[in-house]
Order: sequence, then structure tokens, then C-alpha cells
Amino acid sequence: MEITRDPQGAAGSAYDAIIIGGGIYGITLALEAGRRGLKTLILEKGDFGEQTSFNSLKIIHGGLRYLQSLDLHRFRESVGERTWFLRHFPKRVHPLPCFMPLYGNGMRKPSIFRAALFANHLLSFNRNAKVRPDRHLPMGKVVGVDKSREIFPLLDTAGLKGGAVWYDGFMPDSQLLIMDLLLAAASLGADALNYVQATAIETDSQGHVCGVSGVDRESGTAYQYRSDCVINAAGPWCRKIVEGFDAVPESLFRPSLAWNVLFDRKALSDHALAVQAREPGSRLFFITPWKGKIFAGTGHEPWLGSPDRPCPDREQLLGFIGSLNAAVPGLDLRIQEVGRIFAGLLPTTEAGSNILTKREVIVDHGAVGGPAGLFSVGGIKFTTARLVAEKILTLSRAADVSRSLPGEESRTYAQVEDGTNLELYRDLLARDQSILHLDDLLFRRSLLWEDGEEALQFAEKLCTLFAWNEEKQKQEIDRCRQRLLALPDGI
Ligand SMILES: Cc1cc2nc3c(=O)[nH]c(=O)nc-3n(C[C@H](O)[C@H](O)[C@H](O)COP(=O)(O)OP(=O)(O)OC[C@H]3O[C@@H](n4cnc5c(N)ncnc54)[C@H](O)[C@@H]3O)c2cc1C
Repeated sequence: MEITRDPQGAAGSAYDAIIIGGGIYGITLALEAGRRGLKTLILEKGDFGEQTSFNSLKIIHGGLRYLQSLDLHRFRESVGERTWFLRHFPKRVHPLPCFMPLYGNGMRKPSIFRAALFANHLLSFNRNAKVRPDRHLPMGKVVGVDKSREIFPLLDTAGLKGGAVWYDGFMPDSQLLIMDLLLAAASLGADALNYVQATAIETDSQGHVCGVSGVDRESGTAYQYRSDCVINAAGPWCRKIVEGFDAVPESLFRPSLAWNVLFDRKALSDHALAVQAREPGSRLFFITPWKGKIFAGTGHEPWLGSPDRPCPDREQLLGFIGSLNAAVPGLDLRIQEVGRIFAGLLPTTEAGSNILTKREVIVDHGAVGGPAGLFSVGGIKFTTARLVAEKILTLSRAADVSRSLPGEESRTYAQVEDGTNLELYRDLLARDQSILHLDDLLFRRSLLWEDGEEALQFAEKLCTLFAWNEEKQKQEIDRCRQRLLALPDGI
């Protein structure tokens, strides 16, 4: 397992495609391009997967809710991608039992759900194909009141008619799944540069893309990278990347704020609970068990600010907690129990709205009056990023897949099982040149971030693994302290 980082060397190479953005969309693009024999370069201005992709609710959705709107196309896409993850990354993705109480109002009737779960079962008949048995997803079912109470002891049983149980995929350590995918892409020939920011897309005299200018944020050195295909997968920044070009469609990524909260409170159930206050029009929330704690989402609000550091304010957070408490009477969560907020931006239907778009937006800029060879993507789900990568590559007329995924060894980023064994991190640093900062190691190459106090105690020792002087060590520890312990200002 090796991840290299050579900004200078990459400037001397020619690439079939340059991908801007090293989130899940950029990384799965590099992976799928590699399977088509294409050589790619990923440019990531920070660390891999540190933005939106770090902040998801960690559910690989099978799309049960798309059945409700009879969006069978989207349902099939989600089921297919969930199977792909369970099949190829069983170490990181496992079945998640989900539960929804049924009070008999509207669609929430046992009879309707029984039919829906049966349809779900039939329409996803091949969901376990080539998936190892302990990752198989059973058929969902409707359970009675007693079983519902067993699953979810805090359940309000007044008027309860039963509950629906179904299964999805869960990636508790999504940051390591991203590193697995990056490793797989690298084994298929992708070069990936974190802390290199794309500063301009270069075009030739014919108006065709010919490369990307970038700056290595570590050294301050500027570089030119060459390719006649550039894919802008910069998530919430993707409009900014192309704003200088003509005819950027209005539909490309208008941001809205979304967040999940990890509470310092024991999980309510081993099932993810889909809950909603009884008042009509209330929002549905998922209260998921994550490593024994309550991980709840998702809050949505309009966002008109900059894409950097999105976060709900105190009032929005209080509103969110109030809605969770209304959905589960007796829950009584308090703002003091907020352990961490996972926030990001998602594309919305119109500026200033918090209604999410239903589909990804892919722009072939050459086809709408912009530079030929330039593509942009605004994705909506972690789950379907790989499939969207396939669609973009088809649009860019890449060949069909000819290479299978690399072997297990080349698609499993080493997980340090013994969290405080310094030698294991030394070994990791020797094999992964993209670990440039302490928080790369704490947040995105290990599980250390989960216990902030412990991570900080260990941080000084970890610093000895890097060639840093005392001042730099202090800076790195301070930066981690901010990210590990502090909640955003005003909360
Ligand atoms: C609160 C929340 C909950 C969610 N829950 C789920 C869920 O449970 N399941 C699910 O499937 N999906 C979920 N999603 C959606 C999913 O997380 C996103 O669709 C996905 O992570 C977007 O990935 P991305 O690669 O497009 O964006 P990002 O992860 O933001 O990556 C874009 C990258 O581009 C980089 N970049 C920007 N500008 C430049 C530049 N100039 N040069 C170089 N690099 C640049 C950024 O640094 C960033 O790393 C959730 C999202 C949120 C916010």
C-alpha cells in the first residue's frame, strides 16, 4: 500500500483527465477512470475527503423512500450502488437495521408499509449478489407494538400500530472508506495531490481545455498541469471554479446547509430510527447509533454564505434539537450534550432554499458554449458518487471499463487497530506521503479523532514522527485542539 505525493513530478506528466476536488466524487471519478485505462490527476486544496464527504450521516442508502414517489430509476441506482459498496468494501460498509414507528396516519399504515417493503424486496432482488453472507441485507418486515418497543424502548406507544424494519448500508468510518477508494484509484494509476489548489482552468486558442494551474499550498510553488480533459468535482466550490466561463447553467450547485449532530448520549437503539413529530408537515429525522452514541440528522437550512466552514448557528441548532425532542417525546436532548456538528453544503433547487435537488447535475461546458473538454458535477449523495463518475466518463467519451478493481490488499487502507501504538503510525507515514498535517492523521487516516482528549494527549508523541521543530509542533497541536474540542463560535 503506497500513496505518493509529487506536485513537481505531476507537472512533468500528461494526463488523460485532471480532476479538481478530492472528495468522494473526485476520488470515485479517478477510480472509474483508472478502470477505463485513463491516467488521472486529482488536485485537492485541503486533505482528501475533509469537506462535505466527512460530514455525511454515513448511510449508504438503498432508496426505499424513492419507492414512495415511484422514482424507480433512482431507486434502482441506489440499490445498485449500495450493493457495489457492500460487495467491494465489506470492511467499511455493513448492514444497518432501520426502524420507523407506524401510527397509521397517511402512508404510515402497517398495510401500506407491508406492501412497500415487499415491493422493496422484489425490486432489489439482486441486492446481495456477490456480497459476502455477513453483509447480506434481509427482507424488511412490519413488526407489532411489542417488538417495536423492544427495538426502541423510548417509543411513544399511544396510538402505535406497529413498526417497519428494513436494512441499509452503514459506513461508520467513512473517512477510511475514502482512503480505501483513493488507494484503489492510485493502484489503477491515479496521481493524487492534496494541499494543491486549482487556481485556473487553462484553455488553448481554439477554446479547448489544455490544463489546470495550481498552487502547492505547502510550499507556495505554482505549477501547470496538462490535460485536454478537466473534471470539476469541487463540490460546493464547483461554481466558483467555473464562474469565469460563459453559460454556466443556473442549476449547477446552489448551496443549502445540512448538518448532523453527534450527541454525548448513549444510543437509543441498535437500529437507526426514522422519526418525525406527529404534527403534519414535520421533518423526518434519522437517529442513528454510531459507536454507542446518538448521531442524529439531518438539519436543513438555506445558505447564502461562503462555502468555507458552513455551520448552523445556535438558534438553528436549538430548533433542530427541539424538533428531535418533539419527534421522540421524553428524549429531552440538550445543547450541552452536543459533542460534534458535522455540517456541509448540498445543492438546492433555488438560491436561498433548503429543498434539495433530486438529481446530480452534470455539465458538459463544451456543449453549452464553454470550453470543450471541461465538465462539472454537483453531486447529491455519497452513495451514488461512483455511478455519477460512470455517467461523466461516458459523456466524455471514455472507453468502457476494461479493468476490474484492484485486489483486496490494494483497496484497503491500513487501519491502526491499536490506537496508541506509535510504531503503527510510523509505518503508516512511511507508506502514505499525503499525511502532511497532524489532523490528516487524526481525522482521516485513523480513528483517533473520536476521543478528542485522548487524541490530544497522544498528539505530542505523534509529532515526533514528523520532521517538525518545536514551533511547528505547537501549531499543529493547536490546529488539532481547535478541531477536536471546540464547537463553533457562538454555540
Ligand atoms: C449533513 C450531510 C449529511 C449527508 N448524509 C448523507 C448520507 O447519509 N448518505 C449519502 O449518500 N450522502 C449523504 N450526504 C451527501 C454527501 O455527503 C455528499 O453528496 C458528498 O459528500 C459530496 O461529495 P463531493 O466530493 O461532491 O464534495 P466534497 O466532499 O466537498 O469534495 C469537494 C472537494 O473539492 C475541494 N476543492 C474545492 N475547491 C478546490 C480547488 N480550487 N482546488 C482543489 N480542490 C478544491 C474541496 O476541498 C473538497 O474536498 C450528506 C451530506 C451532508 C452535508
